[in-house]
Amino acid sequence: VRYELRARFRRANFCHCSRCRKHSGAAALAQGRVPASAFTLLHGRELLVNFTEPGHMAKVFCGRCGSSLFGGTWPEGPEVSVRLGTLDDDPEIRPSYHSFVEDVPAWDQLADDGLPRYSQLPPSDVS
Ligand SMILES: [Zn+2]
Repeated sequence: VRYELRARFRRANFCHCSRCRKHSGAAALAQGRVPASAFTLLHGRELLVNFTEPGHMAKVFCGRCGSSLFGGTWPEGPEVSVRLGTLDDDPEIRPSYHSFVEDVPAWDQLADDGLPRYSQLPPSDVS
């Protein structure tokens, strides 16, 4: 799967919600939001698997290698949530907050990195 972004990320964060944690297989999922109009899927559409539970954000992954790729309201909506770990280049944005820290598991220390933490979504997050 290959994709191209033609705009800067609007925002980026670490999400610790149980769905993102399981989607990423890690302590948190690092994601950035780009306008959907600036996103182009170049290759591999047939490999995408969209796991969306009713009432929750999409979790899209590669059915061949298992990489967590996209989320949000995929494939509709004004923004695409891109998993920062899938990027080849520096996104020139850094995650600026932690969301859903109420879901941080007992085994995660969540070291103090100086970023704001929200028990669920920050007030400014429209998703
Ligand atoms: Zn999440």
